[in-house]
Amino acid sequence: MGQRYFLEQSPSADAPEIILSGAEAQHLIKVMRGKPGTAVELFDGSGVEWEARILDVRRNDVTLEVLGSEMVSREPALQLTLGIALPKGDRQKWVIGKLVELGVYQVVPLVTENGVAQPVEKAMGRLRRQVVEASKQCGRNHLMRICEPCTLSVFLEQQFHQAWIAHPLSAEDVSGIQSTTVAALNIESGTAGIAIGPEGGFSVAEVSKAMTAGWEPIELGSRILRIETAAMAVAAQLLLGR
Ligand code: SAH
Repeated sequence: MGQRYFLEQSPSADAPEIILSGAEAQHLIKVMRGKPGTAVELFDGSGVEWEARILDVRRNDVTLEVLGSEMVSREPALQLTLGIALPKGDRQKWVIGKLVELGVYQVVPLVTENGVAQPVEKAMGRLRRQVVEASKQCGRNHLMRICEPCTLSVFLEQQFHQAWIAHPLSAEDVSGIQSTTVAALNIESGTAGIAIGPEGGFSVAEVSKAMTAGWEPIELGSRILRIETAAMAVAAQLLLGR
């Protein structure tokens, strides 16, 4: 895979030249030091990949000649949606990039009883930019979607072929919740949803509500994982090698 750049606007079939501007042009000019003649790849998040060549590099934008296009899917057969009570700051940005690489279909930031505030509009913009960055690097031509934040209750209404809520069983837990083991995470296609809680965990009431809605509590092992580790671990369990 060569240098890849993201297009906000797709090239039209009858105009073989396009102008790259903004952050992507800055990356090509300043970081990659692109020169006329260099071959590059372009994608717009729709699944299409364009082969192109640099024609002209200016201060703030670049002219590219589009040579051909192809639909290239690097998506797994399973559409995995993760509802995550996202951690703060750089940790949320970091985990979003990793979930793009692993092939997660979409992330829903979750508002939960014990959680911290979920990203506001400005932060959502930064997270979506992170999706583009990770997609450039890993070769995904479909952008992982980041939905608007919603409450756990609203997330639980979404329909999936399989749905789990990650909840560690602690010794002092007297709620009687029975979790299945990670071996249950074995669906290969269709849709799956998994809810990952905040540092403070899901409340017993939240887990009960999920169970009533048909979500199965799942236990990831005898150690407590941080939010981002839990999210990456379930994504890897379901998507690695696919
Ligand atoms: N203190 C919390 C743990 C929070 S860890 C508690 O005891 O419930 C953050 C989230 O990661 C959890 O809400 C859960 O969704 C997931 N998680 C972390 N470790 C887990 C484990 N061993 N089993 C299941 N889920 C886990």
